Amino acid sequence: PDEERAAAIAAVTADSSTPTIFDKIISKELPSTVVYEDDKALAFRDINPQAPVHIVLIPKNRDGLTQLAKADERHKDILGHLLYVAKVVADQEELADGFRVVINDGPNGCQSVYHLHLHILGGRKLKWPPG
Ligand code: IMP
Repeated sequence: PDEERAAAIAAVTADSSTPTIFDKIISKELPSTVVYEDDKALAFRDINPQAPVHIVLIPKNRDGLTQLAKADERHKDILGHLLYVAKVVADQEELADGFRVVINDGPNGCQSVYHLHLHILGGRKLKWPPG
């Protein structure tokens, strides 16, 4: 059945040792349009933008953070850092009229890449609620 297959795929992709496409973006093996980088975080333009501005923001060291649901106490600093960087990136992209920060978590959240990431969306009036 479809649900069993989806659960099996989610279990494999959520394995903390499985590399994702974002590892290749971090190592620059895969090209990306980087808009922000520091020692802990990297932000680049989404390849399939859902708004005029659509940026993906990731921790460089995944450290078990395949998804937000896997966070524990040791991740509090990087989680705070990422949220602050989201604000810095929004400033950089001149999203003064507002923007949205999204984390898709797990199968029901429609997560497709199991390396924690924040979506920063803006440049148009976004709809609410999401689908
Ligand atoms: P998720 O669906 O929340 O896991 O988001 C993953 C996001 O990564 C999607 O919006 C994809 O379009 C984006 N993405 C996947 N591969 C690449 C890439 O190679 N470059 C930039 N963005 C990517």
